[in-house]
Amino acid sequence: MAIKLKPLPYAEDTLGGVISKETIGFHYHKHHQGYVNNTNRLIDGSDFEEMTLVDIIRNSDGTLFNNAAQAYNHEFYWLCMRPDPVAVPPKLKSLIEKSFESFEVFKSTFIDKAATLFGSGWCWLELDLNENLTITQRSNADTPIIHGHKPLLVCDVWEHAYYLDYQNRRKEYLEKWFEIIDWEFVASMVKPENLAT
Ligand code: MN
Repeated sequence: MAIKLKPLPYAEDTLGGVISKETIGFHYHKHHQGYVNNTNRLIDGSDFEEMTLVDIIRNSDGTLFNNAAQAYNHEFYWLCMRPDPVAVPPKLKSLIEKSFESFEVFKSTFIDKAATLFGSGWCWLELDLNENLTITQRSNADTPIIHGHKPLLVCDVWEHAYYLDYQNRRKEYLEKWFEIIDWEFVASMVKPENLAT
């Protein structure tokens, strides 16, 4: 059973004001597809072949882990964006405000952590083992699901995610990216019992 490259949830030219069609072309069709292809090549004929992508990630290391986790992280990343802006659902907003003083503090903390992640990696909003919201820098292919954390939101800060559009201006990418977050998707990833009622 091969893992699949899932379709993008929007047309490739619809994030144009923030992420160009050219960037998505390389990022989705070359980088993400490459991680999927490498994973399939590495699991071919092994016990991993019968596993889900998440189980492959939880049971592998080295090159297979890196490629499988990157396949997962990218799938999650595409789902975190949408072409039409959407408001933060009230329950999620109040959860964020309780955890970070205010939504503005959350926003500036997230952008700062994503901007200062050294090298390649991902900045995540996660629910940790105690079900607290946390913003976590993760290098290379690291992913919250191997730490027992629940992923809610991720931004890709590998250079391939923004270099064609922003070159070395990572912070500008992050500030624009923040405006196209699909907060309805983020809210859907939070367990109902974590949401303020
Ligand atoms: Mn990427």
